[in-house]
Amino acid sequence: ENRGNTVGRVSKGSYNQDDISVFLQPTLQGHAVRSALLASGMAVAGRKNSRADYRQTVERWWQNMVDARMYVTGGLGAVAAHEGFGADYELPHDGYAETCAAVAGGFFSHNMNLLTGQAKYVDVLERELYNGALSGVSLEGDTYYYTNPLSSGPNHRRWEWAGAGLPLTPCCPPMFLKLNSALPSMIYATKDSTVYVNLFVGSQASIKTGTLDLGLTQATDYPWNGVMNYTVSPATESTFTLKFRVPGWAENPELRVNGQLVSGLALVDGYAAITRQWQAGDTVGLNLPMPVKRVKSDPRVKADRGRVALMRGPVVYCFEGVDNSNASRGIMVDEEDSFTATFVPDLLGGVMQLKGRTSIIRNLGDTVRREPFTARAVPFFANQNRAATTMDVWVADASTAVQPVVAGTPSASYCNPGDTVTALNDGLVPRLSDDESLPRMTWWNHKGTSEWAQLTYNKPRTISTVGVYWWDERRVNRECRVPQSWSVQYLANGQWLPVQGASAYGVAIDQFNRVTFTPVETTAIRIVAQLQAGWSAGILEMFAGTRPPAVPTASHTWSFDTVNAYNDGRTPAASDDESIPRHSYWDHKGTAEWAQLTFAAPRKLASLEIYWWDERRLNRDCRVPSSWTVQYLSNGQWLPVQAQGSYGTAMDTFNTVRFNEFETTAIRVALQIQLGWSAGILEMRAYEPALLSPVQTWLAQHGMSTGTNLLSDSDGDGISLLTAYALGLEPNGNPASNMPSPALSGGNLGLTFWGARTDVTYAAQSST
Ligand SMILES: [Zn+2]
Repeated sequence: ENRGNTVGRVSKGSYNQDDISVFLQPTLQGHAVRSALLASGMAVAGRKNSRADYRQTVERWWQNMVDARMYVTGGLGAVAAHEGFGADYELPHDGYAETCAAVAGGFFSHNMNLLTGQAKYVDVLERELYNGALSGVSLEGDTYYYTNPLSSGPNHRRWEWAGAGLPLTPCCPPMFLKLNSALPSMIYATKDSTVYVNLFVGSQASIKTGTLDLGLTQATDYPWNGVMNYTVSPATESTFTLKFRVPGWAENPELRVNGQLVSGLALVDGYAAITRQWQAGDTVGLNLPMPVKRVKSDPRVKADRGRVALMRGPVVYCFEGVDNSNASRGIMVDEEDSFTATFVPDLLGGVMQLKGRTSIIRNLGDTVRREPFTARAVPFFANQNRAATTMDVWVADASTAVQPVVAGTPSASYCNPGDTVTALNDGLVPRLSDDESLPRMTWWNHKGTSEWAQLTYNKPRTISTVGVYWWDERRVNRECRVPQSWSVQYLANGQWLPVQGASAYGVAIDQFNRVTFTPVETTAIRIVAQLQAGWSAGILEMFAGTRPPAVPTASHTWSFDTVNAYNDGRTPAASDDESIPRHSYWDHKGTAEWAQLTFAAPRKLASLEIYWWDERRLNRDCRVPSSWTVQYLSNGQWLPVQAQGSYGTAMDTFNTVRFNEFETTAIRVALQIQLGWSAGILEMRAYEPALLSPVQTWLAQHGMSTGTNLLSDSDGDGISLLTAYALGLEPNGNPASNMPSPALSGGNLGLTFWGARTDVTYAAQSST
């Protein structure tokens, strides 16, 4: 080992793992693929040379990799700019995660298992096999990912390896094949008179070593279920040990030998061992139950805060827009929301799909609303194998991570491949027309042409206003400008018609240009733009509907801030997040102030969320207020709301206050600033009453959580909640006499009850 020894040569640096001796390198560092392959080689060398310094080094690297530098998918290498590892816990969702790095992580983990005999290393090999590495190839097997981020837009598609299409993927396809061709050799391992069962793969093996001579067959549908059946066929009756890996995710594993349950299953190094005299035809059954699991990350991973991922067995799931009404980023998973798994043979070549009752937060234009939503997730490895769509592994389980959904599927006559049509209605309002901190849609490099940008709805909507925030590069001397002219058209019986009675079509920069017109009912609306001769154009954000955004105002605004921060859709990462617009009352100190949202028409409201600006960690002068209340406008007067619960002043999160519903054209936060300090606001959302399904309303009316399992029978009266709901009974404490009894009438058997539900399917069945 000569790394770090630069006598007579020039160091290739830490990026090439050459700044210090490998034994002194604290972590995997530099280029992710080369670093993980170096580690893999070190693990092999350590096994061959039995040197403690090799083993200690790779154990340290591996543990750090798994604890702080690996995505839940097994993806390695967070930083695209240098194709390498970032700092510990630096795992952004748009990270690099090259397929080759996942493959290298798989080989590294496999070799660590051979070095140490510990099962935890195979858990990570398996994580790569079913997730990080497998996503690298399309289901058709003809296109390949170079990078495997955990969140992607419609532009993230697999590339061809060779052929007419560009770009090409140079290194990843052969690395993927290398891992897959090695797979048969990774299913089992042997040492002395022990066989290690490492991977659950349907197979037939012949195992011959100095001490072992047997055949071993494995039958399973893994990873869709955790039932494995083995047939052991020793050449002659003999005593040896079979060690079955029990993955870290598996709870309550069961092992049966010739049908007999092994009681008191003890795991050593992650394996359940059976030593006995085996004879031909002996069978072993291993059962690993596979409930859907919620994964929460280490809180030090910023990108995962307020988010949850789903796994079932070794398979990591993702939410694709195509399965979720293009609204995955507005999904909110509550603790009581449960997911069920169903095998769908004609989906993505046959996969286990997860389906759950969740909520979605909708951006209604000027307010937001929580609605029940059935969310669907598919295995991450199968992502982006259908229409171009969004993909997210981590979905929100707190409102700080939700991006409220704006209705409509965006499309355009053309979109520059470096930009995205999803920018059109992502709900993020720019600061300026050359704001590069947000995604945008541009028609670049089309110049002087006629183009369109469109929102399509799955059911007809009334639309009377459209707004557009133009992308314009005049101040940065590039080639996009506002268009020469534009108009709005709507779809009517398959034809695009101009809207009538339109107000002026503005081309101002740094603001929404809003047009109002005679209302139309339509399933699609578009902006048609004539680009200036010699110039291209683009859009940062558009809206369409009957509701223009609420107008924010405040009692005072520091001249470098903006009240537009209240409802620009940008959720802060922390209370001192300086990367997004804010509003502050500086240099007012200790005063009483207000912050207000005014609506174009009366809205029914039920709660408000506010994210305070606070500079305590920056040692500046803004703090959360000492107290605040919510007021609403009623006949020209500001009245206090009837709040349920307290007014929070927590940092780094939304403070939510719920109140008795009211209808109003304006809502405000009245705050008292702490003596000697100033205060500010990063974001504010007014919520309309939540939309509940009838059964959720019934549960809520009876003081139960809306996510309660309907098949449960909490009071043990033998009648499930679903039965009680369907038959119009009380949820709890139903006396048997309340149950409807069947009665014969004129040769028909009838069951009479009151209150049939429209959301329950009733069916008659008979048995003999
Ligand atoms: Zn590669």
